[in-house]
Amino acid sequence: MNNNNNSFVAICHGNDAYVNAYKALEKINLPDLTGKKILLKPNAGRKVLPNKGITTNPLVVAAACDFFKDAGAIVTVGEGTILGVTPFDCLESTGIAAEVKKRAIPMIDLDAAPADKTVIKDSVVLNHARISNVIFDFDYIVSIPVIKTHMHCKVTLSLKNMKGCLKGREKVRLHQLPQPEIPVDEKTLDLAIADLSTILKPDIALIDGSICMEGLGPSAGTTKNLNVVLASTNYLAADAVSVSLMGLNPEEIPHLRLAAARAGESIFIDDIDIDPPSWQEWIQPFELPPKEISLNFPKVEVLDCESCSACVSTLTMFLKRNYEDIADYLPMKFAIGKGHNEIPEDTLCVGNCTIKKCGKNTLVKGCPPVASDILKALTDN
Ligand code: SF4
Repeated sequence: MNNNNNSFVAICHGNDAYVNAYKALEKINLPDLTGKKILLKPNAGRKVLPNKGITTNPLVVAAACDFFKDAGAIVTVGEGTILGVTPFDCLESTGIAAEVKKRAIPMIDLDAAPADKTVIKDSVVLNHARISNVIFDFDYIVSIPVIKTHMHCKVTLSLKNMKGCLKGREKVRLHQLPQPEIPVDEKTLDLAIADLSTILKPDIALIDGSICMEGLGPSAGTTKNLNVVLASTNYLAADAVSVSLMGLNPEEIPHLRLAAARAGESIFIDDIDIDPPSWQEWIQPFELPPKEISLNFPKVEVLDCESCSACVSTLTMFLKRNYEDIADYLPMKFAIGKGHNEIPEDTLCVGNCTIKKCGKNTLVKGCPPVASDILKALTDN
């Protein structure tokens, strides 16, 4: 579909996420879907419980299943996850599998499918990507993210959610790309997402703004209820409106600004047709992620140099759960990420990316590392 000329975005507000999602889909202009194969791609990339603001609300996925089945489409739900967990386990833990199974809809593991290399023409940093081949069997892809802040790219919405269609470790490669040769202001990850958007984008965005996340997103922040669901056939417009509902300016989200420029689209909010006109009543400013994790944990310094969100999440989860227990070890330094030239002495190195520069420091291996191994490394030393 990818009919980005239509910049209409429907928003439905209320306490029932299922009703909001179904009604929002009813409001957008869709083609005849009879017999069409539709892939629903929620954000269920982590093995966590539902309603934490980390993964898509199962009721929103349930409404999408029902809506597209009612429209005569052949519906499938698919997901690919962060490393260390499996899509089916995550779909189960997040409550999405239960809703999907109730409707006898098949689920697919996007990480298990073969993935050929697709070349990205005129790329800035990502000249190819391995996307699960299975997604090309579908007529339409519906990206169903939850509205969240993100440590590395400020927000994660329907465009960023498509990264889950990359094969296994290919998701990590996006975090490990070298800087472009020409100087640019944006982070390499933002440039990579914009490159990827030229070959991998949703046809329909259904954005879950029921139980969202602010602060230390994408997995260690605080829940925030907007009680909205957005739908659009223009994913850039839908992401831009979601960003506005978070009290932010879409132009200040680098990957969104770059992707819009590549697509020749406007994410200027006045250029988007939004229903209802009174939507701004539902804006609630979101707290952004802190620039340094250590801001939230006194006496902890995190030397983060080009890490990816899996390592950031592991470390933040570890600190959240164990901060009181490690009082005797404070102050402490942790290093994560692949970009260190030198790691100072008395730093706990976390993740395989730090191996080369770890020196005589203690190393917690893993990609991603496991939080319990960090505690073990500390208490064993
Ligand atoms: S070690 Fe950590 S930062 Fe490096 S690729 Fe793995 S998860 Fe990402």
